[in-house]
Amino acid sequence: MKNRLLCALLALGLLALPGCERVPDPVEFTTFAMDTVMSFTLYGEPDRTGSVQVELSKQLRSLEDMLSVTAEDSFVYAVNHAGGAWVEAPDSSVLALLHDTLALCQATGGALDFTAYPAVMSWGFTTGEHRVPSPEELEALAAKIDYTAVALSDWAGPTRRGGIALPQGMEIDLGAVAKGYAGDRLAEAVRDKGISSALLDLGQSTITAVGTKPGGEPWRIGIVDPTRPGSYFAVVELADMAMGTSGGYQRYFEQDGVTYWHILDPDTAAPARSGLASVTVVSPSALTCDGLSTALFVMGLEEGTQFWRDHPELDFEAVFVTESGEICRTAGLEGRFFLAEGYTDREVTVLE
Ligand code: AMP
Ligand code: MG
Repeated sequence: MKNRLLCALLALGLLALPGCERVPDPVEFTTFAMDTVMSFTLYGEPDRTGSVQVELSKQLRSLEDMLSVTAEDSFVYAVNHAGGAWVEAPDSSVLALLHDTLALCQATGGALDFTAYPAVMSWGFTTGEHRVPSPEELEALAAKIDYTAVALSDWAGPTRRGGIALPQGMEIDLGAVAKGYAGDRLAEAVRDKGISSALLDLGQSTITAVGTKPGGEPWRIGIVDPTRPGSYFAVVELADMAMGTSGGYQRYFEQDGVTYWHILDPDTAAPARSGLASVTVVSPSALTCDGLSTALFVMGLEEGTQFWRDHPELDFEAVFVTESGEICRTAGLEGRFFLAEGYTDREVTVLE
């Protein structure tokens, strides 16, 4: 009887036991943005979570309006059709995104190159009208991919905005970093509203974890098995951390028995064939996760591992899955990376 009363009081939330705090119900919502379904889970007081929901939707719409390559009134479209002229950035944070992206292009030696857009378009990944360009066409496209030809100026206040200029014929695409950038911006908005526990899933394996779960446990996020995209082969524990995966399984088409995916090698303008099936990056910055997962996919396992060793300042860890099914993870994921149920017999190589 006493037990039953205790249970009833606990269930009603009228009695709090030490270590047994009542967890508020999460506010969950989904939206379609940046070509994918995004879902958000927020823990907090209802008045706060309500206003955050409005704020996140507003920010996503505004990012989409600025960064879309196809919408004719977007900032990126204006840059791509300026015929070599300078185009002012709409605000200082978009200019910061361009600077950060260019810095990642430089750091990765051009494995990430945001001027790959004419090649992306040529393969039909923008429209869905897929085709395989001829070798001559690919050679011409690869010759035009060159982030070093992009001119960026700094922001010097409202009267002298910063901007960007591309050589005639060059076009940029922020598709490799936009979801990560959005993840960082949205996480900042969530924190600014006083919410300290949230999971922002920006779709296609880009996730930002704000704080921990309400009880203090880390968020546990699955990494997709590239050979069975409905299953997760591993789980990574995240607290105030982001994670992003790039893989050939995410967007591809098949022609004459060959699979062609959306991650291109800037040297060849063709799908990157580095022997990897997917790369997952874990970092406090979602932009770093997004940009580097694409770049490491282009580099491959060996070069990617060396890149990780050489760039501790980028503050990231990585999980590589090769096309032959080998799983490799960097040493810094110790205690945060676990094989998922059904995969516990798989061997994991730790990269030092
Ligand atoms: P992600 O899905 O983040 O790996 O980014 C892939 C998207 O970025 C593609 O759909 C293209 O729009 C673009 N892209 C493809 N290859 C590259 C590359 N090597 N560097 C920069 N952007 C790329
Ligand atoms: Mg990316």
